[in-house]
Amino acid sequence: MNVLVLNCGSSSVKFQLIATDLDLIAQDADRKLARGVIERIGGEAIITFQAEGQPAQRFTAPVRDHRAAVEQIIRWACAPESNVSEIHSVGDINAVGHRVVHGGERFTQSVIITDEVLRGIEDCIDLAPLHNPANIRGIIAARESLGPGVPQVAVFDTAFHQTLPEHAYLYAIPYQLYRRHRIRRYGFHGTSHRYVAYRYRTLRGIAREETNVISLHLGNGCSATAIKRGQSLDTSMGLTPLEGLVMGTRSGDIDPAIVDFLAAKEGLTTQEVEMLLNKQSGLLGISGLTNDMRELLDEAREHNDRRARLAIEIFCYRARKYIGAYLAAVGGADAVIFTGGIGENSPEIRARICEGLEWFGLELDPEKNAAHKNGREGLISRDGAKLAAYVIPTDEELLIARDTVRCVRAAMERTGAPKPA
Ligand code: ADP
Repeated sequence: MNVLVLNCGSSSVKFQLIATDLDLIAQDADRKLARGVIERIGGEAIITFQAEGQPAQRFTAPVRDHRAAVEQIIRWACAPESNVSEIHSVGDINAVGHRVVHGGERFTQSVIITDEVLRGIEDCIDLAPLHNPANIRGIIAARESLGPGVPQVAVFDTAFHQTLPEHAYLYAIPYQLYRRHRIRRYGFHGTSHRYVAYRYRTLRGIAREETNVISLHLGNGCSATAIKRGQSLDTSMGLTPLEGLVMGTRSGDIDPAIVDFLAAKEGLTTQEVEMLLNKQSGLLGISGLTNDMRELLDEAREHNDRRARLAIEIFCYRARKYIGAYLAAVGGADAVIFTGGIGENSPEIRARICEGLEWFGLELDPEKNAAHKNGREGLISRDGAKLAAYVIPTDEELLIARDTVRCVRAAMERTGAPKPA
């Protein structure tokens, strides 16, 4: 099956086309056919398209809305001059998999999108007011462009964390507020944490139930997850993606009293304070320079910039604290997994995070650590370390495509529908 994977943001649509099916999943032989992104939807958009094995094409064109963006992607994929293998007409796109940010408590796994599921995603809008509306626009756009006969599947960022026990997901605020407003820890980046846990057990040749790890997704957004017996036991992001680790522009954990204090001192509304904590804090806020870890490392190295060094130190210290907390939560894990742009590419940050964890039995192998970047997967701790460390590049799109195929095939089995090629 050829699956169009869509990740719709408020003004962007990212996509991949992936050829996969149950037998290809079993052999780990899925194929990426094409990828791309349309940014700045609503005006003169910046478009990047790339077919497998071809150079990327980058151009600008007016793109009115999400529907126009999805149509543009499909038109490009089907055009002979784009050289997307296996895709010659719209009929060659067999299913669509959507990244959906918030599935609330209702969606514990990926599902085929029906009108009822769409209403369920709408019900979660108040929990993710910036993200879910864009995801819904993408679903409607794909349905209009490809027709109702092409199955669509929703894969939720929150779903993997629905196994959190009550004591991990409840905040210590009056219980009726959880009942009334669904205020609790949901967690995000679930597809990424689930994917790296799957890769880890594949690399180790162990069963899901034997998978006890702490995964650190360190990108622009950052989160840590404690995984016990293959299931999410705790995670650092909460009701929203603002909680937890220090991120590019987000503060992560702070004393909640700061919100009111800041509002009074700076003459801001609480919404403005929330914006400040989401957009002007984290690495950017501390350094006053940039939210980009690579640039911060350069600044620290080349100019010994004090605040760049401080931002890096606070980032690493917070990550290390979470590893300690989650080792206690899991009751002793076997490995720490690094993923995301920073986790996959920065030996220096990985080494700084792991400083002092020798006590837990974690010792990095400097050579292996230095060699793992640019997509290389593998072990970076010393042989025989009690607590191992791995770099595992994430691939959320692949997991979305695989979930899509699994949902569609299962529905066909149930209904006895004819199987597409
Ligand atoms: P997103 O969360 O938006 O998907 P990414 O996972 O691509 O983002 O991560 C982006 C972050 O990864 C940026 O802070 C970037 O500086 C950082 N990064 C990428 N490559 C390196 C590198 N070689 N060294 C340090 N940081 C890096």
